[in-house]
Amino acid sequence: MTAAADQCENKTAGALRVGAVIDEQFLEHKTGHGHPEHPRRLAEIYRMVEHTYKDRLSIIRAEPATVEQVETVHTPGHVRRILKTAEQRISSMAPDTQVCARTYMTAWLAAGACIRGVDLLMAPSVDAFFALIRPPGHHALADKAGGFCIFNNIAIAARHAMKSHGLSRILVVDWDIHHGNGINDLFYNDNRVYYYSTHDLGLYPYSGQVTETGEDEGLGYTMNIGLVREMTDDDMIYLYEKTLRPVIKGYDPEMIMVAAGFDAHTDDPVGKSAFSENLYGRITRGIIEWSEKPGGSRPPLFFALEGGYDPRALTRSVASVFEALCTSEETERPEVPETPPEHVASLVQAVINTHLPYGIITT
Ligand SMILES: [Zn+2]
Repeated sequence: MTAAADQCENKTAGALRVGAVIDEQFLEHKTGHGHPEHPRRLAEIYRMVEHTYKDRLSIIRAEPATVEQVETVHTPGHVRRILKTAEQRISSMAPDTQVCARTYMTAWLAAGACIRGVDLLMAPSVDAFFALIRPPGHHALADKAGGFCIFNNIAIAARHAMKSHGLSRILVVDWDIHHGNGINDLFYNDNRVYYYSTHDLGLYPYSGQVTETGEDEGLGYTMNIGLVREMTDDDMIYLYEKTLRPVIKGYDPEMIMVAAGFDAHTDDPVGKSAFSENLYGRITRGIIEWSEKPGGSRPPLFFALEGGYDPRALTRSVASVFEALCTSEETERPEVPETPPEHVASLVQAVINTHLPYGIITT
């Protein structure tokens, strides 16, 4: 990647000014032979951005988070354990999470990239921002790495948005095929972050039942949707329109953060779904349309890369999101089908029945 300028001049690109973090230092996190979360994932995305989008995006380099910022989410013990991995060529943080001596640095940079994104969105220097980073974050717990995740990048960014920018309504949309148990747990009793996730309950970490809706102050502020088998792109966009749209309308978020994993793609070797890359652009268009307020303003849109393990499918999926963001002015509506199959209608009904009593969504 050549000279990604460390600046954020606002290039006109459709209606939205879009920024993205690109930094080859993220390729230094090595996970071991045959591991699906490998550097080539990002290398291919970076090539695509360089080829297709570099003139339409503000490219931003990453800067590391501070210890204080990381410790708004993680325990000092977890932070110490990650730092110690710098002393070993290879360490194992969990059965599926291997790290190398440079991983701690990339984990720090990934969290810092997300914090930078929040600051740029709040300035506001950009309207939408995508952190093209690794390692991913949505499985990381306060005191534990796992699921290829070291620090919970989005949770750290959300805490920063609350602490430094005074936000009190942040919506996290997690479309990775795995349940983001880290984000779920960290904000389970906090109504300042609404966590919305669609995932396969048969996959790691096997959590995220529809009945898991939050507790205490956060009761009703977590919407978990376990996907049913044989869903198509059309079914999925129907599901999002019927469930995410009312959450956006009812919660009125000040920022929308997307845990953007692309392992629900049909070519993905880890996820077991059958969606195309176009789905991600359609959901992005949906979020853009559904979050527009009277008068035309909308909350800032933040994306951070999570899973996605077929580099080509992943790259096409990320491109689909950029296409939706960069052409938002000319973009059509997300083409929501009117009549879904029975199993999809039943799923939607179950989610709505569970959440109507909390009073955030209405029919
Ligand atoms: Zn995943």
